[in-house]
Amino acid sequence: QTQTDAGVKRSRDSWFGRIRNLLGSAELDDSVWDELEEVLISSDVGVSTTMTVLDELRADVRSGRATDGDSVFLRLKQLLSAEMSSQSDADAWLDDDAIALPYVILMCGVNGVGKTTSIAKLAHHFTRAGKKVVLGAADTFRAAAEEQLEILGARVGVDVISHQPGADPGAVAYDAWQAARARGADILIVDTAGRLHTRNNLMDELRKVRRVINRLDEAAPHQVLLTLDATTGHNGLTQAQAFTDAVGCTGIFLAKLDGTARGGIVLAIRRELGVPILFIGTGEGLDDIAPFDPEGFVDALLA
Ligand code: GDP
Repeated sequence: QTQTDAGVKRSRDSWFGRIRNLLGSAELDDSVWDELEEVLISSDVGVSTTMTVLDELRADVRSGRATDGDSVFLRLKQLLSAEMSSQSDADAWLDDDAIALPYVILMCGVNGVGKTTSIAKLAHHFTRAGKKVVLGAADTFRAAAEEQLEILGARVGVDVISHQPGADPGAVAYDAWQAARARGADILIVDTAGRLHTRNNLMDELRKVRRVINRLDEAAPHQVLLTLDATTGHNGLTQAQAFTDAVGCTGIFLAKLDGTARGGIVLAIRRELGVPILFIGTGEGLDDIAPFDPEGFVDALLA
C-alpha cells in the first residue's frame, strides 16, 4: 500500500503542485516568497511552521546555500521532512515480546470523525498481520455505536464485548480486558464515547476508563489513539487539545485524509499537538488504512 493515493495525490495536485511550479519557473523575488507563504498556510501547514520554514529558506538564499528555485525546493523538502521526524513506527511493538498481552489501544475522538470505522480498520489491519483482536464497546452512551461496532466486528471476524446501552463504560472496559485475556487475544481495542455537548463528563468518563484498564495492567493502555478528521483542519486541533490534556493521547489516527486537499494538516498536528500520527485513513473501506510514514508522506507531497 502506498500513501501516494487519495489524499496525498489530491494535496500534491492542488497545493504542493503549485509550490513546484512556483519554484520551478520564477526568479526568487518577493512575490515568490509571498505566494509560497500563502500556499503553505492555505494547505493547513500552520502559521508557525510556515514562518519557521520560510525564515530558514530565506537565510539559505542569503548565505548562498540555495541559489535557485530547484535548490530551494529541495531544501523545503528537507525542512518539512525534519518537521515530521522523530515519529514512532506504528507497528514496531507488534514484535516486542516484552509486552504482556493484550496490548491495549484506547480509541477516543469526537462523534462523526470516523472513530468506529477506524477501529474496524485497525482490527482488520492487525488481523491480517496474524494477530488476534478483541474489541470493547465502551461507548455505551450511543446505542447505535455498540451496534455499529458489532456489525463491523462481525465483518472483520473479531469478537466484540459489549453491555446494555447506558451501562458503565468502565465496566465494559473491565470485561473486555478480561475476555481478551481469557481468549488469548494479542490486542484489545476499546471504543469510547465522543459526545461533545457534555465535555467535562466525557473527559471524566475517559479518565475513568483509562484508570480501570491501568489497574488491570499497569503498562496499559499501551496506546491512547485520538481519531481526528483531516477535513476539519485547525478546528479539529483545538478539540484534540482537550483530549490530549485530559487523557494523554500517545498517537493520532488521522481519518478521511482522502477527503482533503490540505495535506499540510499533517505537519500542523505534529507541531501543535506534539503527538505522532500513527495511522491514516484514506477511504470508507476496511482496507483504506496505512501506518503513517512521515518521510514518505512529505516525499509524495513534493514529488
Ligand atoms: P464516528 O462517529 O467517529 O464513530 O464515525 P464513523 O466511523 O461512523 O464514520 C463517520 C463517517 O465517516 C462514515 O460515513 C464513514 O464511512 C466515514 N469515514 C470514516 N473514515 C473515513 C476515511 O478515512 N475516509 C472517508 N472518505 N470516509 C471515512
